[in-house]
Amino acid sequence: MKSVVVIGGGPAGYPAALKAASLGAKVTLIEKDKLGGVCLNCGCIPSKSFLDGAHRFQTAFSAAALCTTDGLQHAQALFNTRDFSQLKTRQRAATQKLAQGISFLLKKAQVTVMNATACFIDEHTLSVSTAEGEKTISFDGAIIATGSTAFYPAPLDTLRGQIYDNSNFFTMENLPKSMAVIGGGVIGCEMADFLQAFGVEVHLIELQPRLLPQEDENISRVLTQQFTKRGIHLHMGTSVTGAVKTQDGIELTLSDGEKLQVPHVLAAIGRTVDTSELHLERIGVEAARKGVQVNPQTLQLKPHIYAAGDVTGLLQLAHAATRQGEVAASNLCGVPAVYHNERVPRAIYTTPEIASIGLSRTQAQTQGIEIKAHKSFFLANGRAVAQTQTDGYVEWLSDAKTGQLIGACSVGTNATELIHIAAVALEAGLTVAQLREVIFAHPTFAETWGDALK
Ligand SMILES: Cc1cc2nc3c(=O)[nH]c(=O)nc-3n(C[C@H](O)[C@H](O)[C@H](O)COP(=O)(O)OP(=O)(O)OC[C@H]3O[C@@H](n4cnc5c(N)ncnc54)[C@H](O)[C@@H]3O)c2cc1C
Repeated sequence: MKSVVVIGGGPAGYPAALKAASLGAKVTLIEKDKLGGVCLNCGCIPSKSFLDGAHRFQTAFSAAALCTTDGLQHAQALFNTRDFSQLKTRQRAATQKLAQGISFLLKKAQVTVMNATACFIDEHTLSVSTAEGEKTISFDGAIIATGSTAFYPAPLDTLRGQIYDNSNFFTMENLPKSMAVIGGGVIGCEMADFLQAFGVEVHLIELQPRLLPQEDENISRVLTQQFTKRGIHLHMGTSVTGAVKTQDGIELTLSDGEKLQVPHVLAAIGRTVDTSELHLERIGVEAARKGVQVNPQTLQLKPHIYAAGDVTGLLQLAHAATRQGEVAASNLCGVPAVYHNERVPRAIYTTPEIASIGLSRTQAQTQGIEIKAHKSFFLANGRAVAQTQTDGYVEWLSDAKTGQLIGACSVGTNATELIHIAAVALEAGLTVAQLREVIFAHPTFAETWGDALK
């Protein structure tokens, strides 16, 4: 493959560009906004920076238990001095530093980066709109990595620009006294967690009867208990049927008839794929809100055109996007590679942290697999007890007939790190018997994985 164009410089696009360059292609990366995409600029990194800031105060409160009777007052006094602008400064610095890293890598790999909006003219030509005007670029191969944007169903669509979504949430001036978060999926739960921990009264509204509807019910139950304990107002099985701007903010009408008056609303209802500006019809590809139809293993759309990341709708996670980008570039450049959607770990950075990989109980049951669950609680783990962090558990799912590990989840301290032990085990195709041979250091949270199999 001589010349490759990559459209979009997010977690799918820039690794795709680096991979194609490493395989000898002459690569042009076209990004209309900022390198790093949603993840770096208004997704993963800003949200984790915010969440960590809030969790540091929770740690200060937990340290009060080790102090004299004044400890709680000191922790409260510290909390009262929290400064949202400091949190934003820290987040911007992190984003800037990581963006510099991406630019450095692309430069080193001799990838040409264009700040422009691209669209197809035909199967071998792009039109790019830059600050200096329109240009055309011809290519031998292309990778579409244009990502996704926040989804606004009715009646919220009329308030676009007047309420928050991920594109403007991290630049908000001040934190309000209260906020309604619409959507109890990963983004909604993480942001509700941050807001509550930073002192905002939160109403979390979810259409499904439970939080994190994609995860197993046990996981939803743990998070629901924690959020309820922390005073987050949960409106489960509830939809927003009306939304109007008022003098004091927004009035939401909920499906149970309740009227909710809040100063601000965050829309976290899901993501949508909008490829309209790419003119996919000119290359004979159908656009769809849920993503363009690629081969889910090779990421191929047409013999010389691939897609990667959120735009494929396979799994809207940054590391899935990166792997897809690399696999797409590899295949495009003639080095066969395969993407496995089922081997992508899913991490949720709430308190408690939640992570999972492979099949869930429900998915396994739907596929007719007879499962065996192997669960161990942190309550019985030496390190967790020593550190008084006993909330949570790990769980393996195995095929009851073969003993093959098919899924895992972890909930509690370090869950988003611990899940990678399961990721390695699943990738290696280990069975319960093989994993029992692994020696875990004591005392660690990780040894709970071993305890679960005893
Ligand atoms: C609040 C929030 C928190 C998140 N947290 C996590 C997390 O903790 N972990 C995780 O794994 N995932 C997380 N995600 C999801 C993650 O951000 C996305 O899965 C990831 O960014 C997808 O990468 P991408 O490259 O496919 O698309 P994007 O990151 O959306 O990048 C696509 C890029 O293409 C550019 N583009 C679009 N159209 C054109 C065009 N016509 N011409 C030129 N350029 C174009 C866009 O400007 C954009 O920069 C989060 C998302 C949100 C919203």
